[in-house]
Amino acid sequence: MKKDTRKYIHLRKEMVKNQIKARGITDTDVLSAMSSVPRHFFVSEALMDQAYKDFPLPIGYQQTISQPLIVAEMTRALELTKNDRVLEIGTGSGYQAAIIADIVFKVYTIERIHGLFIRTRQLFDELKYHNIVTKYSDGTLGWKEQSPFDAIIVTAGAPKIPSLLVDQLAIGGRFIIPVGDKVSQTLIKVYKDETGVYETDLGDCRFVNLIGDHGWDD
Ligand code: SAM
Repeated sequence: MKKDTRKYIHLRKEMVKNQIKARGITDTDVLSAMSSVPRHFFVSEALMDQAYKDFPLPIGYQQTISQPLIVAEMTRALELTKNDRVLEIGTGSGYQAAIIADIVFKVYTIERIHGLFIRTRQLFDELKYHNIVTKYSDGTLGWKEQSPFDAIIVTAGAPKIPSLLVDQLAIGGRFIIPVGDKVSQTLIKVYKDETGVYETDLGDCRFVNLIGDHGWDD
């Protein structure tokens, strides 16, 4: 059984105050999720003491857990409500999925690296995230059987917006994805309504590559 401790509860409180609230995030659902999800369990034991710092960390397999601020900003941009069903591409450590799962009804998350998929699925079980469903697959193809989704989040950088994912977004749905070259990207928000699909630019970002049929080549 994993047990949260006073030390990490304190570090988490400081993270929310100094890195999230201080940078203008006021969404109460996002602040509450960031205050409760034990980020230190989503990194290796050797990195636990750095888990609440203001930067991304390695999670093995040349992948990363994103900086707390970018997780908060992407979650806020999804405009989540409690009955939402959300698709995440790029499970990684599982931290972003856990933050979303704290707010919504159900999260579907896809990972393409088998070792990460297995490790993170076990962690979700241990931490009792019963509303997260995992899949080992190429996420650029989406999850058609479970679509449409109220929100979709891609946590790896894509060369373009995969149209298959836009097809799997519900009317009224929000979709956040980093798009650009292999080194740096722009965070794009896609909004879909009865009249069409609209894009907004949310600023620069830097993610590992989205690899797959509708992403970069391996
Ligand atoms: N959301 C993660 C977290 O909270 O730790 C971020 C992980 S990392 C920035 C991006 C992840 O996307 C990596 O684990 C990588 O293997 C995964 N990924 C890349 N291309 C993918 C694809 N086509 N389908 C599923 N996962 C993919």
